[in-house]
Amino acid sequence: MNMADMKIVRCISCDGYGWEDDEGDVRDCAWCDGTGYTYRDSDGIDHPIPAEDYGKIADELEQLEMQRMRELGYTGTAKNPEDQEIRKQNQSPDEA
Ligand SMILES: [Zn+2]
Repeated sequence: MNMADMKIVRCISCDGYGWEDDEGDVRDCAWCDGTGYTYRDSDGIDHPIPAEDYGKIADELEQLEMQRMRELGYTGTAKNPEDQEIRKQNQSPDEA
């Protein structure tokens, strides 16, 4: 994979939520592994983001998440911060 061609996009499976609700059984989205976002390559193919990349792209994910929240009309956080792998590595002071 050429990382320079990768964009980060909202997960097509869970639409950025990071979880799926299967008839009341809520679990991490299998496609994005609970991040809510995936890589999209120059061919338009989506790839789950490897856990080792979370630290590298944490800021970008944070931006995308804030943008998504605004679209939804949220001012707070949608997910329990404990449930977000990314936030464990990128605690922002105004999230607390
Ligand atoms: Zn997903």
